[in-house]
Amino acid sequence: MDTTPPDTTRPRLHVSGRDEDSPPALAQAVSTGSLPNTERVAGLMQDALDRYRTLDDGAVADYIPSLGTADPALFGLAIVAVTGDAHAVGDSDHLFSIQSISKAFVFALVCEALGHDSVWRTIGVNNTGLPFNSVIAVELNGGRPMNPMVNAGALATTALVPGDSPSTRWAFVRDGLSAFAGRTLEMDPEVYASESAANQRNQAIARLLQSYGHLTGDPLEVTDVYTMQCSLLVSADDLAVMAATLANGGVNPVTGRRVVSEEVCADTLAVMATTGLYEMSGEWLFEVGMPGKSGVSGGIITIAPGKGGLATFSPRLDGAGNSVRGQSATRFLSKALGLNLFASRPVA
Ligand code: GLN
Repeated sequence: MDTTPPDTTRPRLHVSGRDEDSPPALAQAVSTGSLPNTERVAGLMQDALDRYRTLDDGAVADYIPSLGTADPALFGLAIVAVTGDAHAVGDSDHLFSIQSISKAFVFALVCEALGHDSVWRTIGVNNTGLPFNSVIAVELNGGRPMNPMVNAGALATTALVPGDSPSTRWAFVRDGLSAFAGRTLEMDPEVYASESAANQRNQAIARLLQSYGHLTGDPLEVTDVYTMQCSLLVSADDLAVMAATLANGGVNPVTGRRVVSEEVCADTLAVMATTGLYEMSGEWLFEVGMPGKSGVSGGIITIAPGKGGLATFSPRLDGAGNSVRGQSATRFLSKALGLNLFASRPVA
């Protein structure tokens, strides 16, 4: 198998393909410890809600017209531990369209279907340093989609979804995301219609990738399945289960069903860490110390591997398209619950 990494114009890490020469996995290859006890988690979540519910910076996204009608006061937080224990405060059961958070889960499902090397070669895993809907990022990188968490890479990832028709590919995406959530997810027809009428930019990105030979299939069909995946309705409660599945080596801690492999979880979390909050991913990692993924409807998921998944929902966004209250609440909870993956203490 050809293990040459993507031929981008940027310098890149030179390692050979993992599928051929990886060492055997360690038996205990997970981050250490568990979440604090139930009372402490519940108390700190309420504290996070109270601290940031009056934070009114940012604006609700309206470039997809139906998103502009969201109530900016909504604010919900949910945590699901790898044990399945769940805690939620505020508007955690409010349904909203998943938007870009779908990118992480579709990437995981496609990695599971096609393998680490193939997805790495086709999509790439490096940050563009540019906004999520950047066209110039494609041009600056030799027509490459660069990573699966921005629109170009997400469109190229959705193009890799197995299936012989758009409806079978859509069923693969919807069933897969539903398995992560542990319930059948439904599409919001209004959000889908609104984004379909306004997504000429995504259609253009898909065509641009096709012109460089980096998108398989019909660009408009691919954009349509991508728009449907972004229109799936979820709550913060759902997103916390989905995040906890990535924290739990790919097994949904509520249903007990395996959705993806442990290796695919590690690959997905790595890409989320470098690119999940777009061009703000460095600052996110610096402040929060965990992989996350945001979406323009106001959701953010954060994963503490081996511990659990956190989801926040609040529609006001900063300039990069990340929820303002969600970032503050996640930063607070990361510190308060001791979740930063880079934290260590000297041995006694
Ligand atoms: N569906 C949205 C888009 O393509 C998703 C963007 C996002 O959540 N950042 O523009």
